Amino acid sequence: MTEQMRGLCGHLVDIDDKGRLRSRTESAVVWDESTGRIVDVLPQEQATQHYPQAIFQRLPHSAMILPGLVDTHIHYPQTRMVGTSAVELFAWLSGHIWPEEALLREPVFAEEVARVFVRQMLRQGTTSAVVFGSQFAYANAHLFDLALQLGMALCLGETLQDTDSPSGLLQEDAVLWKSVEQQIALWHNRDRLRYTLSPRFVPSCSRQMLDRCGAILREQPDLFVQSHVNETRMEVERTMQGVTDAPHPIGIFARYGLLTPRTVLAHSVYSNDDELRCLADHGAHVAHCPSSNAFLGSGVFPYRRHQQAGVHVGLATDVAAGVSFSMWREAGHAFLTQMRLAETERLPLDGEALLRAMTRDGARVMGMQDEMGWIGSGAWADLVVLHPRPHTYLGSLEHSAQAPLDQRLFRAMTVAEDEMIAATYIAGSLAFQRDPMPRWPWMDEI
Ligand SMILES: [Zn+2]
Repeated sequence: MTEQMRGLCGHLVDIDDKGRLRSRTESAVVWDESTGRIVDVLPQEQATQHYPQAIFQRLPHSAMILPGLVDTHIHYPQTRMVGTSAVELFAWLSGHIWPEEALLREPVFAEEVARVFVRQMLRQGTTSAVVFGSQFAYANAHLFDLALQLGMALCLGETLQDTDSPSGLLQEDAVLWKSVEQQIALWHNRDRLRYTLSPRFVPSCSRQMLDRCGAILREQPDLFVQSHVNETRMEVERTMQGVTDAPHPIGIFARYGLLTPRTVLAHSVYSNDDELRCLADHGAHVAHCPSSNAFLGSGVFPYRRHQQAGVHVGLATDVAAGVSFSMWREAGHAFLTQMRLAETERLPLDGEALLRAMTRDGARVMGMQDEMGWIGSGAWADLVVLHPRPHTYLGSLEHSAQAPLDQRLFRAMTVAEDEMIAATYIAGSLAFQRDPMPRWPWMDEI
């Protein structure tokens, strides 16, 4: 049905299936609006001939069309807390974060927070995410529902905690597990939604809670799991306090059957070689959150050791310890963080490696690598248009200093201006478009 076809024409940039940067200039990506999937990528001059009834939009030469970005770890109830200062994880959680998370008990407030959360992701070109939800199911229902309307890929579940936590975040056991069961039945595998068992971290979860998660997972092994591990030295210490049945924090997750190819553990700053082997053996993933690790003074992520051990790593903002919703900025932070390490220890990151981390690697963490994170037939039409405006600093650089593609991408990650994202498409539908700027004559001269 050609009348359902739409397309964007311009410079397509993504990572190919060999992991290399791919550039297709003067090309067209064509999708079927009824399915939200890409049906063709072809030279621009053939597009109208092959798809005469399709509606095409031509983008300027200076724009790039990229796959939607994947944020592999972010907290929905912390949407309003970016930039809330603290010196250490536990003080930050109890002083700022937990009181804010308790506010999502109020449904109207939770709904507003869900809207802001999604809007901020779309403004940065993020189309998919692994999300720590609220402790309250009805708050998560708002987010599940928004994601469903937009066609987003989202892994989401209640933040589970029952130990060393304020009473405002706790629910009776019977109520909590009944609600988890209902949420799984209601949302899991609906379009691109995946229910995710989300024990916050070991210091906040009793053994009974971890055991219950393991039991649910045995019954329904295709559920996702997320948690935090080896984030700060104090957190590692508290995690291992009195533990006799596991050699290390990762071993605790293994012991309760919570390490699977659908597990995403955030941070892993202090994982030893044994733990990395354990993660790799189970096919579990790690979400690397560089700005969060810097913000809380957690430590420097050993990216290279994870890669050498064969652990799959995705990039993540970890809002609100992370400093923004921008995966671009996060990519820049990943580079800066690695530069703190000795040359033999750091993973060299360039535009290609960082784009891979933001797209294909993230899609793999979500188990959706065959259908998103790249631009080609069969993939979802999750697309981002990167087009710095002429009046911005990045725009002026694009205009005056032509650079190789890898450099241009790297520069976008380093400068990371909010205004550089012109549009975001999810499953072929326009989900965000930057308002047109008023034009003044001097703008074109910069
Ligand atoms: Zn987190």
